[in-house]
Amino acid sequence: AMVAAIFTGAFTLLTGIWLTWHKDEDQDEFTRAVRAQEFVPYYQPVMDLFTGELRGCELLVRWRRADGSMVPPGAFLPYAEATGAIREITRQLMAQSVEDLAELYAVNPQLKLSVNLTASHFDTSAILDEIRDIYDESGIAFSQLVFEVTEQHPLRDLDLARKIVGHMQALGAAVALDDAGTGHGVLTYLQKLGVDVLKIDKMFIDGIGIDVPSEKIIRSLVDLGHELGLGIIAEGVERQDQAEYLKGIGVAVCQGYLFSPALPAKAYIEYAAANRAT
Ligand code: C2E
Ligand code: CA
Ligand code: CA
Ligand code: CA
Repeated sequence: AMVAAIFTGAFTLLTGIWLTWHKDEDQDEFTRAVRAQEFVPYYQPVMDLFTGELRGCELLVRWRRADGSMVPPGAFLPYAEATGAIREITRQLMAQSVEDLAELYAVNPQLKLSVNLTASHFDTSAILDEIRDIYDESGIAFSQLVFEVTEQHPLRDLDLARKIVGHMQALGAAVALDDAGTGHGVLTYLQKLGVDVLKIDKMFIDGIGIDVPSEKIIRSLVDLGHELGLGIIAEGVERQDQAEYLKGIGVAVCQGYLFSPALPAKAYIEYAAANRAT
């Protein structure tokens, strides 16, 4: 038994050292990637189902590694959030969005740009200065911006978050509740935050035509949104029958592979030219 204990102890110690060593290696690699600005914005078109017109896009981050490979956000965002690196990454993405889209947006004032923020962005009002620094007189007007706050991570200080949302709105930007119904209390967030838009998560959209609860939840969220005077966006629309269902219940604005995945800047600009609002 003692031999076994020593053996297990040695094993645990060695794996511990090995894990720590590799964790440091990962961390160095990640820090280097942030500095090298390897985190780039992709833009997923947002469409109007009734007119077929482009409404704008959602900025979705991709890690483009030096060898050209792409890492999806699910693989690094938890880490970026835990280390706080997400704040610098978001700042870089917003700055890049100006370089990519200012020209297009300056002449198409109806186009919107949605930016994903995390719970930590609502911990201090520093985000407001960043937004002003980056977008003020940039070609992208505040009225074209939508900041998305996800329900997936708890907000530490709802009162402060409410104030930050209010300041964003005072600038002319809109705020959307992302992943509504999948996280930390859609009702509380809607009551406390004062958002302008409710985004219905793909998880529910997936169930259209497949399960009754999903459809009922979608209808309830849409009713709730309308009661509160909010805009509605449906995400993850992949099939024509989902689009028809959403049209039938009066949801106009949606995004999903039915229209387009997230695109690099050049491809999104081409997409906009081909779907110009008339
Ligand atoms: P999200 O904000 O809910 O974004 C929608 C996700 O669904 C995106 O995945 C998008 O590519 C994907 N998607 C859109 N339409 C369809 C569809 O029709 N079918 C399928 N299968 N997928 C669809 P992505 O880009 O992998 O991002 C995943 C999540 O990572 C996002 O979910 C968001 O929570 C987070 N994220 C992405 N970019 C950023 C960012 O710049 N900052 C922050 N804080 N979070 C981000
Ligand atoms: Ca989002
Ligand atoms: Ca979403
Ligand atoms: Ca989602």
